[in-house]
Amino acid sequence: MASFDVLEPSSLDEAFSLLDPEDPAVRPIGGGTALMLMMKAQVYRPRRLVSLRRLDGMFSGIDLAADGRAFRIGAMTTFAALEHSREIAAKLPVIPRTMKTLANVRVRNVATVGGNLAHADPHLDLPPVWLALDAKAKIVGPRGERVIPVADIFVGYYETTIANDELIAEIEVPVRAGWRSHYVKVTTRAAHDWPALGLTLSLLLDGRTIKDARLVLSAAVDCPLRLTDAEAMLKGGEIGPDLLKRAGEAAAVQPDIESDSRGSEDYKRHLLKVHLGRAIEAMAAE
Ligand SMILES: Cc1cc2nc3c(=O)[nH]c(=O)nc-3n(C[C@H](O)[C@H](O)[C@H](O)COP(=O)(O)OP(=O)(O)OC[C@H]3O[C@@H](n4cnc5c(N)ncnc54)[C@H](O)[C@@H]3O)c2cc1C
Repeated sequence: MASFDVLEPSSLDEAFSLLDPEDPAVRPIGGGTALMLMMKAQVYRPRRLVSLRRLDGMFSGIDLAADGRAFRIGAMTTFAALEHSREIAAKLPVIPRTMKTLANVRVRNVATVGGNLAHADPHLDLPPVWLALDAKAKIVGPRGERVIPVADIFVGYYETTIANDELIAEIEVPVRAGWRSHYVKVTTRAAHDWPALGLTLSLLLDGRTIKDARLVLSAAVDCPLRLTDAEAMLKGGEIGPDLLKRAGEAAAVQPDIESDSRGSEDYKRHLLKVHLGRAIEAMAAE
């Protein structure tokens, strides 16, 4: 492996001066779990890695707003910190539940919220959950900062709207009264495989009536995708076999799905129909 530098700036200005907007061989590094895999596979050869570990302030910590209506989560927060946060478990139980299906303890101890979003592999488990929860990301760079919906980070397979000299600093996740969320990871061979399909549901229920819904498909598509046709069909409906069948059909026809080693296009559309109905029934029965 060719040699490269790892630098640890202690201020944002220093970090920006070390990043290079033109050179993809210069990258920020969070936990390093995705970068190391790409370097071992020799698909990425860095010249310089800029570690974010000494940047504190907005990059670290999990804070619940005084009015309890939103979390601020620093981009360098590890998955283990998220998994074991009592406040997150109490207000966003879908997060620790999703963690149980994600990688292993060693990866969760180092992988970070920011690195996971910036990596933009559509098979990752948490990005679609943030999207269903209506989270926003703060992006900082030498030209200033911007706050965007998490959905606007992704443009395609491993492609994002974040420039080479920009950083994800933190995310903001609303705590929405009455909403329940659930992530379904469908693997077609072993349980620890990458998913053939990920489905995140966020529902506002009144008994068996769906007052509002956010549904996000991942893994079977290039980047996390809102299933807006099915959402519109579910909104205001009473949960029952007819509604779930129609919503499953609407969900299955909307996305562009491709066949791959985890299943054919038809099979994944079938999985989507079946798992959407099952998950909604299970959430209503909770
Ligand atoms: C053995 C193994 C099993 C795994 N299993 C799963 C799994 O089941 N489910 C799952 O979802 N994931 C899984 N992962 C992937 C893991 O979730 C990602 O590797 C991880 O989320 C990336 O986070 P990181 O902090 O290590 O990122 P890094 O490797 O540090 O960085 C990844 C990318 O993000 C960029 N980056 C990092 N931080 C920032 C930032 N703050 N702002 C802008 N760009 C940034 C880097 O330049 C790089 O391009 C697995 C990984 C391993 C090694």
